[in-house]
Amino acid sequence: MVDSHAVVVGAGIGGLSAALALHRHGWRVTVLERAPDMREVGAGLSLMANAVRALDALGLGPALRRGGHGEAPGGIRNRHGRWLSRVDASEMVRQLGTTALGVHRATVHRTLREALPASSLHTSAAVEHVESGPDRAEVRYQGPDGPHTLSADLVVGADGLRSRVRAQLWPQHPGPVYAGSTTWRAAIAFADPVPAAISWGPGAEFGMVPIGDGQLYWYGALNAPPGGHAPDELAAVRERFGDWHDPIPALLAATPPDVVLRNDIHYLAVPLPSYVRGRVALLGDAAHPMTPNLGQGAGQAIEDAVVLGAVCASGAEEVPAALAAYDELRRPRSQSVARASYVAGRFGQQLHNPIAFAMRNIALRLTPGRVALRSMARYADWRPPAG
Ligand SMILES: Cc1cc2nc3c(=O)[nH]c(=O)nc-3n(C[C@H](O)[C@H](O)[C@H](O)COP(=O)(O)OP(=O)(O)OC[C@H]3O[C@@H](n4cnc5c(N)ncnc54)[C@H](O)[C@@H]3O)c2cc1C
Repeated sequence: MVDSHAVVVGAGIGGLSAALALHRHGWRVTVLERAPDMREVGAGLSLMANAVRALDALGLGPALRRGGHGEAPGGIRNRHGRWLSRVDASEMVRQLGTTALGVHRATVHRTLREALPASSLHTSAAVEHVESGPDRAEVRYQGPDGPHTLSADLVVGADGLRSRVRAQLWPQHPGPVYAGSTTWRAAIAFADPVPAAISWGPGAEFGMVPIGDGQLYWYGALNAPPGGHAPDELAAVRERFGDWHDPIPALLAATPPDVVLRNDIHYLAVPLPSYVRGRVALLGDAAHPMTPNLGQGAGQAIEDAVVLGAVCASGAEEVPAALAAYDELRRPRSQSVARASYVAGRFGQQLHNPIAFAMRNIALRLTPGRVALRSMARYADWRPPAG
């Protein structure tokens, strides 16, 4: 293959996965990250079977299985701890070929970084402008020592929710909107065995996921106006979830206040008409920011990366055709996952009308486990392209 060079904007899980996928197919990659150091802000992640398969395709499945926790049987409870729906983990493995994985975000980020040549990663590099011509694309960025311009065969916009690349190439697009919920999350030391499970109260959800090495990730989500902040976020979580079922009070008691993160949830209410402009492709949250209700945002970003690497396998000369294939393979699936995630949030975490809430819970209790599993498998049952 001729020297094929890709510039990746953003070193989140999506950007690093894209860089690795291209690197494994023989591309030279330059990753530009505006933060002064390479790190992943955030606590834990649930990676569904599709994401685990995509990580397998990047050669990182074994390391991340060792660094995380294959999720134990769980399901959905009410705030008093009564099970509404249980997941049969062995049946899930039988159907999907792998468990889901609970893992610390920092572990995923570090594992991706370590698989890339250190010389490809550039921090304090804030991209300001991206332009695509027929044969080359150009990226202008501010580096630690002043402005730079790079020319490349391919540019990947993996710059997250507030993507500058998206705004520049699709200037008419309205951008992300508030989904109606705020979240708190933390990764803590908690060695007692806990099932990966979620619990629902009216307009509220609490989730817990073991992430290996005696650590656990919890989150709380609540219907709320946007932009809220509390002087003590842990106290705010205790106020809303502190009287929920065990072990939630114990998890909150084991949480140091300074590890609690708070984020409002945003998504693209208007899906993008394309993920591609010329030699520029969007990926991950830059392309399809979604609500976290199906635990699929990072999973979709990693899938994007694997597919991008596969379609670009023959190098720089085929980029326009490769990106057309990328758009066709990725946009319908990721946008339908985003839509399903939003709907799952409306009927799950966000449901607060007492009658609708009670009816939903009864319906869940009456739904056979295999039907619940089938609806989960619908999005988790994905395989990387062959070859
Ligand atoms: C509360 C919550 C819980 C979630 N839980 C899960 C889950 O359990 N499972 C799951 O799969 N997903 C989950 N997600 C979604 C997941 O976190 C995201 O989908 C995923 O992290 C997106 O990765 P990304 O690389 O596309 O974007 P980001 O992680 O946002 O990375 C973008 C990077 O680009 C950099 N950047 C931005 N602008 C520029 C610029 N101009 N120049 C250079 N660099 C730039 C940023 O600094 C950042 O490092 C959750 C999300 C939230 C909010």
